[in-house]
Amino acid sequence: MEEGSRSVTWYATATRREPLTIPPGLPPRVVARLIRLRLGYRCASQILQTAPDQCPYCFEIEDDPLHRYILRCPVSQALRHPVAWIPDTDNEAAALAIASASTQMLADLCNRHPPP
Ligand SMILES: [Zn+2]
Repeated sequence: MEEGSRSVTWYATATRREPLTIPPGLPPRVVARLIRLRLGYRCASQILQTAPDQCPYCFEIEDDPLHRYILRCPVSQALRHPVAWIPDTDNEAAALAIASASTQMLADLCNRHPPP
């Protein structure tokens, strides 16, 4: 899948094209992480094309650290629950997990276990 298509799919699925309401009192660094996660920003190792990379929490190695962080890492277990349809790709599944999570849950995750 090409990069533009991945981004468009992510944005439409994860945000439902609705603006984000930031919970009051969040530290700026957590707000930045929350926005980054919601928009599906790639991890540094992907941007720098040094992936595969090791997860800082579970130490698994994967080509796509963002997808691993959302879909497979134990620290983000709260994001995962059964959905009514089977996503075609990890990108869709990860974006759907973000869309299904409350903003407070995402903020808590970004505070305790920042995206890699
Ligand atoms: Zn992990």
